[in-house]
This record gives sequence, structure tokens and C-alpha cells, in this order.
Amino acid sequence: MVPVAENISVFERTQEVIRTALEVMNYNDSYYELLKEPLRLLTVRIPIRMDDGKVKVFVGYRAQHNDAVGPTKGGIRFHPDVTEEEVKALSMWMSIKCGITNLPYGGGKGGIQCDPRTMSMGELERLSRGYVRAVSQIVGPTKDIPAPDVFTNAQIMAWMMDEYSRIREFDAPGFITGKPLVLGGSIGRESSTAKGVTIVMREAAAAMGMSIPGSRVIIQGFGNAGSFLAKFLYDAGAKVVGISDAVGALYNPDGLNIDELMDKRDSFGTVTNLFPSRITNQELLVKDCDILVPAAIENQITEKNAHDIKARILVEAANGPTTTKATEILSERGVLIVPDVLASAGGVVVSYFEWVQNNQGYYWTEDEVNERLDRILTDAFHNVYDTSRTKRVHMRLAAYIVGLRKMAEASRLRGWL
Ligand code: GLU
Repeated sequence: MVPVAENISVFERTQEVIRTALEVMNYNDSYYELLKEPLRLLTVRIPIRMDDGKVKVFVGYRAQHNDAVGPTKGGIRFHPDVTEEEVKALSMWMSIKCGITNLPYGGGKGGIQCDPRTMSMGELERLSRGYVRAVSQIVGPTKDIPAPDVFTNAQIMAWMMDEYSRIREFDAPGFITGKPLVLGGSIGRESSTAKGVTIVMREAAAAMGMSIPGSRVIIQGFGNAGSFLAKFLYDAGAKVVGISDAVGALYNPDGLNIDELMDKRDSFGTVTNLFPSRITNQELLVKDCDILVPAAIENQITEKNAHDIKARILVEAANGPTTTKATEILSERGVLIVPDVLASAGGVVVSYFEWVQNNQGYYWTEDEVNERLDRILTDAFHNVYDTSRTKRVHMRLAAYIVGLRKMAEASRLRGWL
């Protein structure tokens, strides 16, 4: 394995793991050449009339990593920092998530450079519809199926679905997932990412001879994923000893009252500002606990703090919270890492359920959704865990090996390699 510098981009870091995973599987260089970048990347410029009467041009992207297994799938993010490189890397992560969970999809991802927090509902609707018009040739229920991601939600999915149906002149609910229930959304989609995290955490705990009830858990981040997760774990009997938001962190070795914290937080998910006893996010990460869950932003666990992490299990609910060096340090110290591509796959699994229900026009109960999600993620965890044991590699590399296998084979059988 070639040593990797800590300061490389997320895209290069992803390429590096893909290259190593293909090497471990003994695939020749042509596989890496095919899989190291998305097959297609469309850049669009979308003119939108703003509320003040002026026209503003927004830049957007849609990346499709590989469609050998089936149509591509992945969210659309609205964020000022969206870049071409980021969208490309995220489409590759979606391929891995779909591969690990054995969904009939390849990975895709979209993004628009914008700040939805400063835009009116009317501006957001015009931007959402404009994006669909701009990418309509390359997306569709059997081509590439978008979904929510950072700062996009069910309302935005509804506008996008309506625009696509108008362009195509037929009702197309299976064009996009994460829709409101009355427009063909699936029960359980909104909390599916957090539910998925709890399922893989339960399996990881069992593999380490531990169990969720009674375990002391720290969750960094109290946004959508973090707060749902804190609630699920609290209800399941875990002791949530630490949480944090953008302002700071709270830690109490006797356990925090999550119901109370959820009641007190403001509409941006901030609550720690109410407590003078708060500590910093970095201090929280190295506090005593059994399970640590970074559920906020990238690059939180690095070679600087990896030696001081007390947890025995690290569950990555956020995308890319741990650097390559930190992954190696923690793995050597015997910490079990449940990598982001596995831990956060619950969202796309329930998106797949939504698409299946749309295609059939037949809708499932909450129990059916939950049972099937549990089965898929439990199998996914064990596949990755067993691969990491038999190939003697850390869990992130094992996840990429499992995630790429089907795509590599499908590409070969189609005659692409
Ligand atoms: N954006 C989510 C993810 O990154 C969901 C994608 C989907 O549901 O297709 O996994």
C-alpha cells in the first residue's frame, strides 16, 4: 500500500481506496482506469429570476459514476461549497453504498452552488425546476434517480418530480425518491439514515461482545441524523453521554436527557449554547465512552487525536469524518470502525424501497420497511466484517472491496473490460 498524505482531497482519498481495493481483489489496471472517475459528468448553468427582479445564474452538476449494475442513484445537495470534485467523489461513494447493500444501482450525485438559507421559497422552487430542465436528458426512473442530500428536502423533491412529469408528459413518481408521502414517498424514509446507523451499530457492538443497552455513546452533531440517532439510542437503553452542535458540546458520564435537549434546541438544531458548562467539539471526541459516532462534518478524527480516542467502536454517521492516517492508527489500536459508506447506507436503501413501491404502485407498511431495512443492513455489516477478517484489512477497505465487486464483474460481463 502506498502511504497517503493527510492533506489530499476527498476525491483523491476515494480514488486511493478504490485502487487498493481493486488490487486486493487482483483486478488489473483497466478496472481502476474505468472506476477511478464517473463515466459522465454534466455541468449546467441555470438562470433564475430572483425576487428582486434580477436574473442570477447558478452552477450545478450531475455525476454518474457507473451504470453497469443498473441506473445510477444518489442525492442532490444545495450548498455554497459544492464543487465538481466533491460531486464526483460523492457519486463514487454512492456506488460503494449501493454495492455493499446489493441494490440494483450504480452511484450518482448532483449539486448546485447556492445558499438555500438565504433564498425564498419561490426562488428555491424556480431553482429546483430549472435544475431538472437542465439535466432532464440524462436522468429518469430507469436512468438516474435523484434524492435529497445536504439542504434539500421532500418539498424540493416534489417540485422536481412535478417538473420532470410535465416535461415527459406522464406521471413519473419513480424519477426521484425522498418525496412527501402523499406523492409516493415511502414510510420511514426521513429517519432511515439514523435507523440504519442503529442497526449497524447493534451488529458492531455484538461483534465486540457488547450491546447497545447500557453502552455509553458520544454523538458529534445534533442535526437531522445526529438528533434522530440520539433519540433512537436513548429509547433503546443506551447511555448517551455526549452530544455536540456547531457551538460546542455537552458531556455527562451519567447520561444526558435527550428528550429535554431535543425540546430545547432551536430551529437550526443548536442547544449547547444554553449550557455554560459546555466543552469544545474536539474535547468531546476524546472523552470516555464505548461508542463514538461522528455525525457532523469531514476530517474530525485525524492523526492528531486518533491516539486519544477512548471508544472501542467508531461508527461514521457523517461522510468522511476520519482521515486515512487516523483510520490506520485506530485499526492498529483494535478500534472497530464502521465506515461511512456502510453506516450511512440506510437512506439509499429506503430510497430503493420507495422506487420499488412507485414502480409497483403498491405501498408497504412501516413494519415491512423496517424489517427489510434491518435484513439488508445486517447482511451488509456481516459481509464487510467477514471480508475484513478473511482478507486481514481494515473495515473501510473491506467495505470498498464488497462495494466494488459486483460493479467490476458487471462491467466485465458487459464487455467494458
Ligand atoms: N443522499 C443520500 C446519501 O448520500 C441518499 C441518496 C438516495 O437516497 O438515493 O446516501
